[in-house]
Amino acid sequence: MANTPYPESYYAASANAVPPRPSLQADVETDVCVIGAGYTGLSSALFLLENGFRVTVLEAAKVGFGASGRNGGQIVNSYSRDIDVIERSVGPKQAQLLGQMAFEGGRIIRERVARYNIQCDLKDGGVFAALSAKQMGHLESQKRLWERFGHTQLELLDERRIREVVACDQYVGGMLDMSGGHIHPLNLALGEAAAVESLGGSIYEQSPAVRIERGANPVVHTPQGKVRAKFIIVAGNAYLGNLVPELAAKSMPCGTQVITTEPLGEELAKSLLPQDYCVEDCNYLLDYYRLTGDKRLIFGGGVVYGARDPANIEAIIRPKMLKAFPQLKDVKIDYAWTGNFLLTLSRLPQVGRLGDNIYYSQGCSGHGVTYTHLAGKVLAEALRGQAERFDAFADLPHYPFPGGQLLRTPFAALGAWYYGLRDKLGF
Ligand SMILES: Cc1cc2nc3c(=O)[nH]c(=O)nc-3n(C[C@H](O)[C@H](O)[C@H](O)COP(=O)(O)OP(=O)(O)OC[C@H]3O[C@@H](n4cnc5c(N)ncnc54)[C@H](O)[C@@H]3O)c2cc1C
Repeated sequence: MANTPYPESYYAASANAVPPRPSLQADVETDVCVIGAGYTGLSSALFLLENGFRVTVLEAAKVGFGASGRNGGQIVNSYSRDIDVIERSVGPKQAQLLGQMAFEGGRIIRERVARYNIQCDLKDGGVFAALSAKQMGHLESQKRLWERFGHTQLELLDERRIREVVACDQYVGGMLDMSGGHIHPLNLALGEAAAVESLGGSIYEQSPAVRIERGANPVVHTPQGKVRAKFIIVAGNAYLGNLVPELAAKSMPCGTQVITTEPLGEELAKSLLPQDYCVEDCNYLLDYYRLTGDKRLIFGGGVVYGARDPANIEAIIRPKMLKAFPQLKDVKIDYAWTGNFLLTLSRLPQVGRLGDNIYYSQGCSGHGVTYTHLAGKVLAEALRGQAERFDAFADLPHYPFPGGQLLRTPFAALGAWYYGLRDKLGF
């Protein structure tokens, strides 16, 4: 059977040691079978175990193999489209509920890290950096909007103040969110997996779900075993393929790329990001960066629609890094990798049920470190029969991408080109 390792990345190279996990070689019975050991699957498993469910997690490759083990590590609050957009599309009542939940994911991460003593370099503080007066205006409205939902750890930064937190002269201002922050994403996933096992949950790696037998007593089949469960949670996100065909039409896997420098040393690292906050700019096709625990710069940006792997990642991302920090021109890039996130047309998560016993959450459109942790809690509540918060997500409308599976990639790329051009022209 194929043994899929982690892709080469800084995270894989600096992962905490974990014991090997078996693949499924038997028929097992459980309460909930979770498909996918990224944050969505692991967070669901943890909340379910804490509530007395028996849980079996099936992972096609390894814990955190997908976006959860490859991402920029930025804890960013709210959703990929903000609450004002949700308010306009679904009305005030549902928006109120979703708005109240928009800052919960970051609290869940911190609570998990503390309760299960997860070593993942957690740091507080995230900056949204404005490249134009128009973007600064958006941040001012965003602060008012977030404060309306009780989120108060925010500070607007003027041109002078933002220079104190990031040594990049492109920005006209920004907003600091002290409940944002950053983590080593793979080590967070590995710590959560260990927590799942400490509560009696089982995780099988190299065990792809290849078929779901639906019905009153659903069965998930892997190449060499099966799991009979009362409920199934589908958490394969951009790596799910066509296992659940109903989910594929309204979402599209997209690739995004990340590079990591050699260690910069304390002094250079501090000169770039003196308080060690993470930063993302306010462009539609945004750049994001932060320091690692060992003082490298991790820099990400760009999107490949349709999730093809680009040939030379460093050639795509390094120029973006040097535009922000020309002072790094002689610094070596040690790692470069790509990962897939799942885009929906509305850029809001795709959540719901298939029949009575198959639940899913996916498609947080590149902004999922916090949402996926919340999703686990909301899914667990729904399985316990308290579905009000789950339904607030499940009732969000979703539409197929124009052009269907064949033409959705060029259409989405065209849309992104248009927004990229607007970013460049400062509209
Ligand atoms: C390069 C990159 C940078 C990003 N940066 C950020 C960031 O800084 N901040 C932020 O908020 N978000 C970021 N994101 C998005 C964020 O990482 C994702 O939204 C989040 O990790 C999704 O978690 P998930 O558990 O839903 O999916 P994943 O982490 O992708 O996990 C899905 C898992 O399911 C498994 N799987 C799939 N199919 C099957 C099957 N049939 N059987 C068994 N297992 C299966 C996969 O192997 C995988 O391990 C980034 C994404 C990428 C790719």
